[in-house]
This record gives sequence, C-alpha cells and structure tokens, in this order.
Amino acid sequence: MTDRALVAAMTGRFVRARWGFRFRTRARFEAWQRRRIRSFLRRVARVPFYRSAAATADGANGRRVLGDLPVIDKATMLEHFDALNTRGVRLADALGVALEAERSRDFTPLVDGDLTVGLSSGTSGRRAAFLVSPRERRLWAGTVLGRVLDARSLRQLVQPWRPPVRIAFFLRAGGNLYESVASSRIRFAFHDLTEPMAAHVAELQAAARRGAGPDVLVAPASVLDALAREARAGVLGIRPRLVISVAEVLETETAERVEAAWGVAPRQVYQATEGLLAITCPQGALHLNEESVHIEREWLDEARTRFQPIVTDFDRTTQIIARYRLDDVLRVDPEAPARCRCGRVTAVVAAVDGRADAVLRLPAIDGRSVVEVFPDVVRQVMARGSSAYADWRIRQAGLDLHVSLAEPAPDAHAQVAASLTALLARYGCHATVLSAPWQEPDPTAKVRRIVREAAP
Ligand SMILES: [Zn+2]
Repeated sequence: MTDRALVAAMTGRFVRARWGFRFRTRARFEAWQRRRIRSFLRRVARVPFYRSAAATADGANGRRVLGDLPVIDKATMLEHFDALNTRGVRLADALGVALEAERSRDFTPLVDGDLTVGLSSGTSGRRAAFLVSPRERRLWAGTVLGRVLDARSLRQLVQPWRPPVRIAFFLRAGGNLYESVASSRIRFAFHDLTEPMAAHVAELQAAARRGAGPDVLVAPASVLDALAREARAGVLGIRPRLVISVAEVLETETAERVEAAWGVAPRQVYQATEGLLAITCPQGALHLNEESVHIEREWLDEARTRFQPIVTDFDRTTQIIARYRLDDVLRVDPEAPARCRCGRVTAVVAAVDGRADAVLRLPAIDGRSVVEVFPDVVRQVMARGSSAYADWRIRQAGLDLHVSLAEPAPDAHAQVAASLTALLARYGCHATVLSAPWQEPDPTAKVRRIVREAAP
C-alpha cells in the first residue's frame, strides 16, 4: 500500500469516526453490523484455519453465520498462529522480533516486511503475539483521534499556521503503533516507563516552561495518578486539555484526582493487544467500539451484570480475530439509555473491571459452593478506607487474602481486615485476611490491584 493510500485510509476513518457512523436506531445499527459480519465471513473463509470449517458449513446451508466459527482463546491462537494470519507468519518469528524489541527498547524492527508485533501483557502464562499492518495502524489511529480529540485540538490540527498538537505518551512497550499518527501537525513525545518517573516529570516541566507542554496526555491510569499528584503539589506545571487513560483499569478515585489536577475528566481508551474495544465519548459514557468490533457477551453472573467479551474485529485483515475470548471482565451500565446523549447507539459499559483473575473465588459459608466476588465491590470497600493508606494490593492464594498497604496508618490493616471480612460475609463466603508487606511496584508492569493466583 502506498503512503498516499495509507493517509487516505486514516483520514477516511478519522472523518467517519468523528462525524459518521451515526444510526437513528439500534436496529439500523445492527442491520449495518450484520452486513459487515457477512463480508468478514467471506474474507475469513480464505484463511487457512477456517477453510475446512467453511467447507462444512457451506455444504449444509450455503450461508455461514458468525456462530458457526469456534470460540477461540489465547491457547488456540498460539497453537494455530500461522494459520490464523493471512501472511503465513510463524509464531517463533513474531515472538523473536517482539521480545528482542522489548529487551533492546528499540521497537522499529518489523516482521515480514511491514508488520508490527504487539505482545499481550501477561504476568503469568505464555504471552500472545499480535500482528498489525500499516493500514490497520492507520485505521486505529484514525478511530482514536476521531473519537477523542477535543474541538480545540482539532482546529489546531487543521490550521497550519498554528503550532502542532503536542501529545505526551507514556508507554511500557513500543511506539510503533502510535508513530503512525505522527505528522507535521501532531508531535509525539514518548516516555518510556522503564525510565525513572522523576526524569519524565523533569522533562515535562522543562517543556511546560518553554511553553511547549503537552496538549494531550496519554498514560496508564497509575501513571496519570502519579503525574496528577505532582501537578497538585505544584511541581509539575503542565496543562493538558485532554487526558486519556489507557492499558489499566481506571478507578473512580483516580479519575477524580486527575480531574482535580487539570480540570478535565480523563477519557478512557480500552485497548487490548487484541483490538480497540471501547472509548469514552464526550458525555463520559464508555462505548463499546462496535463500529469495528462485534462483541458477544459471555455472562459471569445470573443477574447478567458482568461478562467476558468474545470479540470479532472487522478492521483486522492480517491476523484474524474472530470470536476470540478475552480475559477481561466488563460491567454493564443498567442506566445507559438506548441512545447516548452523544448520539451513538452503540452499547455502553459501566467499566472494565480488570482481568478474569481479578475475580476472587472463595468457598461459601455452607462449604458447598464457590462464591465469586467481583473486583468492583472489593474496590469500593478499599476506596472507603483509603484515607488510612496511600495504595493497596490484594492477592488471593488458596483460601487466604494477602492485603498489602502502602504507608498505612497504625490501625489501617485491622480496619481493612474487618471491612473485607464483613464484605465476604455479605456475599456468604469467607477467607482468612492476612497482612503482607508492601512492595514498591515495578514501573514497567501493569498495575493490577487484585489478583487471584491460579490454584496449584
Ligand atoms: Zn456517548
């Protein structure tokens, strides 16, 4: 694909993401999405992994539906990697490039000529690799910018006599994906999170003094929190107009602290290596990115309030993401109207609550069943006591909950133990709450406050 075609793809998507994709009713949207699914299925039929499945289904009734494809997970993806991408790239080659890039912090190497490799961030188990083509990168960039950029940045972007829009981007891994948007009108400053935070703060402060502080700040929630603390303390004088939280669960308290620092509510871009799954709209609602991704809900509770998404991504043509089960827990927003005030009819979720292993699983008091305690209720309890500590982690190992508190007040541990025990009693289960020493978090690792260790 020529550079010109790539720019056209990005601009086209930017325009559609910002002003297009409008549907009068949910039914109309779904009809449109069904057409996209049909053309996706035609495309997928040519991919080696699905060829045999296609033959069977076509023989039966001539037309396949999405439900005919198997639900796959990370293990299947890794096992059939070369048959699930349209370029025949082997997993070993993709992993080789990606791991070497992470080690050397040089993210320019590509595989098969022009493909970027993303790695799923896994603290345990094998990591999955994801291939992204230049065109897919541009579509991604067009979608994100079209959806989140504020009106003032947009004007600045199209007025060549004004300075370019400056975006400060805090990343744990490579900038290849994001550099696809760099141009004379957009300047990216990448901040590698393997470098100490103090250096980043100094760099941002120096830029702010020159009058060249970022207009847009993009970072994982925990990093936004740290920067907001410096800003409130008067150490960091940046004034971003737009603050975007990526890669981690954005807790309500963090969002409030960010807003207190810069006067803008942070927007969320829920981006997994598997795809761009949800974006906050200007009205503050977290919309599933159903214009690009079809999302099936695998319900986790009887009341149907929480689900694991099974995603099918229409935008991806290099590595096929079809009915891929993500390891994340999403919570529905029961209050969300059929049409958001922003005009969209795409589904709204209350929050992304974290990975499936952030759900505690504890024996019921009667000993006959297992009770699941979802991360949002645990977070609420921990937020209520948060004046007594600076930060917290909870790790379930067997029947024990190990609680670590940063800078705890004298009776903080006892109070947390009491409120967690009360919470579990309300859910009809129990655990032994133990106090564990606080460990300084690794700045290069994703912050996960609640983790359930796999049963041995
Ligand atoms: Zn909305």
